[in-house]
Amino acid sequence: MAFRAAVLAAPHEKLTIESVEIEEVPPGSVLVRMGAAAICHTDLEVINGQLRYPMPITLGHEAAGTIAEVGTGVDPSRVGEKVVLSWNPHCGTCPACERGEAILCDRYLELGPKAVDFTGHTRLRSASGDIHSMFFTAAFAEYAVVTAGCAVTVPAEMPLDRACLLGCGVVTGHGAVTNVSTIRPGDSALVLGCGAVGLAAVQAARLAGATTVIAVDRDAPRLQLATGFGATHTVDARRDDELAATREITGGRGVDCVIEAAGSESAFRLSVEVCRAGGEVIWLGKLGVDDAVTFRWGALMQEKRIRRNSYGNARPSRDFPDLCRQYLDGRLLLDPLITARIPLERINEGVDALREKRAIRTVVVFD
Ligand SMILES: [Zn+2]
Ligand SMILES: [Zn+2]
Repeated sequence: MAFRAAVLAAPHEKLTIESVEIEEVPPGSVLVRMGAAAICHTDLEVINGQLRYPMPITLGHEAAGTIAEVGTGVDPSRVGEKVVLSWNPHCGTCPACERGEAILCDRYLELGPKAVDFTGHTRLRSASGDIHSMFFTAAFAEYAVVTAGCAVTVPAEMPLDRACLLGCGVVTGHGAVTNVSTIRPGDSALVLGCGAVGLAAVQAARLAGATTVIAVDRDAPRLQLATGFGATHTVDARRDDELAATREITGGRGVDCVIEAAGSESAFRLSVEVCRAGGEVIWLGKLGVDDAVTFRWGALMQEKRIRRNSYGNARPSRDFPDLCRQYLDGRLLLDPLITARIPLERINEGVDALREKRAIRTVVVFD
């Protein structure tokens, strides 16, 4: 079958909409008709050439849709189910999978940089040749083929344009609080960076019962959003001294849990400075793999627990439906994360909006 996909031919270029084809759905996989796919910062990293992948490539990994077809070995009754896509397929049998660390699965780590599907092959073809797939998903397309386990069924009443947000940014920030941190009712939390991941962390900290939730960003509208998501204090990093402000808010102690979601050297440094003795720091942001960060040694001492985390220790089959139920019950806010909805043909406008920090999430919506 043929359908339209956004294709990146080389770093720094615009995405072009091309007609692509796939052959039959492989065993154990499903064909998903895309409903909505949001543009995440990691997509931008590939376009900007910071994250290197084989090209041409179809990006997009924060997505939701409807199962249109199943490969052999998958229950045919799944056709028609609404699904949120996970970008972390895993074999289930390697030592990392046995330890419950799907994000470190041998096969996932081996195939990820090759930008192929989980069978090891490129799946999309255009007139000019094979097209690679980012994160086993390639969601900026009308259809995607993913392993059955990566198409996680969610309630039928969940709107797809909001459901897609759960697939990367929200589960990363929310999961860092609920699955990784030890935040307890009454604790203090500080979130550095109020993009989609940081705002999800602010919200999760509030839902976890943190009574002091400090949001730090350089952008006043984002700080306003953070207040809506449950921040009790905001610190404008352009204007305020973040360390002094945190000391004042916490009576000089520092915060119990710091969630870093800014991805800058200054944010990594600040994260350990604002953490209390014995507190915890969770890094979600990233720099270039060869970049170096310097720390004041004293800021690392006193029993601080520092952890780098990807994907919020998500267990998508449990977390995606759970987050949907929280949204449908009115406990989890998602709507304010959406800056704009655009059709696939206008995807480059969404990329520019993210690059220029004019958007939290632009959602590409499909008919
Ligand atoms: Zn992402
Ligand atoms: Zn594995």
